[in-house]
Amino acid sequence: MKASLIEIAQTIPLTDNHCHGVIRDNLERPDFEIIATESDWPEPNGMTIFDAPVGIMMRAECAGLLDLPRHCTPDEFFNRRYELGQEEVTRRLVPATGIETFIVDSGFKSTNVLLPSEMQNAVPGSRAYEIVRLETVAESMAANTTAATFIADYASALAKASEHAIGFKSVMAYRYGLDFDPARPSAAEVEKAAGEWLKSNSERGKIRMDHPVLLRHILWEAVDYKLAIQFHVGYGDSDIIMHRCDPTQMTEFIRMTVDSGISIMLLHCYPFVQEAGYLAQVYPHVYLDTGASAHWTGLSSSAIVAQSVEMAPMSKVLFSSDAFGLPELYYVGTFVWRKAMGEILDKWVKSDGLSYDDAVKYLNWMANDNARRAYRLLPK
Ligand SMILES: [Zn+2]
Repeated sequence: MKASLIEIAQTIPLTDNHCHGVIRDNLERPDFEIIATESDWPEPNGMTIFDAPVGIMMRAECAGLLDLPRHCTPDEFFNRRYELGQEEVTRRLVPATGIETFIVDSGFKSTNVLLPSEMQNAVPGSRAYEIVRLETVAESMAANTTAATFIADYASALAKASEHAIGFKSVMAYRYGLDFDPARPSAAEVEKAAGEWLKSNSERGKIRMDHPVLLRHILWEAVDYKLAIQFHVGYGDSDIIMHRCDPTQMTEFIRMTVDSGISIMLLHCYPFVQEAGYLAQVYPHVYLDTGASAHWTGLSSSAIVAQSVEMAPMSKVLFSSDAFGLPELYYVGTFVWRKAMGEILDKWVKSDGLSYDDAVKYLNWMANDNARRAYRLLPK
């Protein structure tokens, strides 16, 4: 008897095409609560994220791996993870995800989380690759550049930062919106913008790459590398203005880069999964995933994963966890995607709309091969 698609999806090794590092510290409760949400504020009125969809999933699906009963209380869960310590929780949960390949965005709060090489060490037999965040590179060189030298300084900083990287990440959605002017700015425009940006950094006492002209410049610099570029799409913290993070807002940029050699990786996509699916169908270099959407929506995530395969070809849909910091997020993100995708394919096979062999092939594509193609990873 052949294994069902549900069974295969539970155990298939995964390529996580977008995640972050696990936090090093054993977190106190308020820090844990704030990392387990995209909100910048703790739950009001003494409430807890353990009663949000993601927290309910943690108490259901992670509990057993921490020697707790399913559906334990928030306090039981937190006290047990605290007692075990972050390192032990990582050791129990992250290898249990079945992720074999981590593609790690190293540009967010990177000092306090495991580096890609450390993620690889945390999961025996796994492989980690690095994605370089364009805005972080600009911020890291801000103290050592001038308006006149910004173009050359950024070019060399990006070359150095991406020496071992397989792609880039743009947080244009956070820093401006996806409704950006798609044109590549001229050298004169960049020089003027760099002067304005350096001045505004010193006036506000904070270095943050948010100048619309420079954001476009650094994005086009990345295009020249002809690698994959990940875009944050949709759902995120209070820095984003959601309606400006619809990926169809960047249609003109997508059109301009069809023949550029890049792959455009639309990440998360909530609630614009259908828009992303449309773009992935129409444009040959566009891919999507539902990382983050899946773990934050917990028990409702199957509807979102189902949307990812409504319109996009099976060769354009990828898995990611988008987990940051908490081992629980890797586990939940992986668990819900495996469950949802397994059930979808199983249903299609049972209705005889899809052959068993094709279903297994598509699952392999979405779990691994599509990422290998888009990021040009060598076959195993
Ligand atoms: Zn992310």
